[in-house]
Amino acid sequence: MTTLLTTRDIAHIVSAHGLPVVLRRMEAAITAGFRRWQDFDKTARVASHSADGVIELMPIADDTHYAFKYVNGHPKNTRAGLPTVMAFGVLADVATGTPELVSELTLTTAMRTAATSVMAARALARPGSRTMALIGNGAQSEFQALAFHHLLGIQHIRAFDTDASAMSKLQRHLAGVPGLTVTLHTSTAEAVRGADIVTTVTADKCNATILTPAMIEPGMHLNAVGGDCPGKTELHPGVLATAQVFVEYEPQSRVEGDLQQMPADFAVTELWRVLAGQAGGRRDAAAVTVFDSVGFALEDYAALRLMRELAQKLGLGTPVDLIPLLADPKDLFSQLVPAVPQRLAA
Ligand code: NAD
Repeated sequence: MTTLLTTRDIAHIVSAHGLPVVLRRMEAAITAGFRRWQDFDKTARVASHSADGVIELMPIADDTHYAFKYVNGHPKNTRAGLPTVMAFGVLADVATGTPELVSELTLTTAMRTAATSVMAARALARPGSRTMALIGNGAQSEFQALAFHHLLGIQHIRAFDTDASAMSKLQRHLAGVPGLTVTLHTSTAEAVRGADIVTTVTADKCNATILTPAMIEPGMHLNAVGGDCPGKTELHPGVLATAQVFVEYEPQSRVEGDLQQMPADFAVTELWRVLAGQAGGRRDAAAVTVFDSVGFALEDYAALRLMRELAQKLGLGTPVDLIPLLADPKDLFSQLVPAVPQRLAA
């Protein structure tokens, strides 16, 4: 039987362990995956573009598990009462091809994206970073704020969104988190002033310029999450030009990341190389580092495996007969009996 994990199951896991523990486990699982980068059969995700959005498939495998995620990105969806990003995924056994797990990945994506952001910032931001600007206060934003607070020690969030109700939703959800203060700002320029880390997590299907060179201060780490699709960027190219830029999987990021705006020979470093000790991270305290995040299949592979483990321990998940259970593997037809003989007789 295949195990189905629903949104309710994932919420149950988070309430049983607490969000900080799940995020910490997620960061550890993703980091472990990136450190054994060479074990994976990697490919850039397959995207189907339409006027208002994109639908993507993200496959990856090592010698034990194959995983894929289905995910969309439709920034106008919120006007129709739907999330911008929705996802589900599959974990399969490589030896037999059996799909072992089908899981929701909308909530899980928000957690894995935040955990990946922290993983990058842990390697690249200045030690002792305490203030983060958070530009874009939609579905992903609380996860980003809480991951940076609990896992990296961020104490102050400086928030801005063009939608005032998104800002107040963020502030409401973060109210009462001990040791975390949130201030709301009237522009991106105001919010980023003095921040150690700037997270951009906006959604608009255009080449937006959320951050311009004039806003960037020496030593900042930029966690650019929302530019993740051709024609959908957040950083002015001048910001990238003078920064150290780190990416997940270069062939994918060249097409989808803010990096798409730069010449093909613009130098970047794949993050796994820093995590595995094969490349340096931040040059010095004054350098500006950019994590040009687009989301890579390895993060979902790690998240699927972690969620399955946590669900098993809590006895969560529903067995579903996604694949026929056959007494004789060569006799698929008997699955239709007794329905077929009656129909054939009709
Ligand atoms: P969302 O639609 O819920 O929130 C986006 C927010 O950005 C909205 O509140 C909107 O008002 C705000 N915004 C738009 N333009 C802005 C601007 N110019 N200045 C300030 N705020 C602005 O979307 P979400 O689910 O939070 O996702 C945010 C982005 O992150 C999307 O672009 C999505 O594709 C991307 N994303 C990336 C990854 C990754 O791994 N890199 C993972 C998940 C989502």
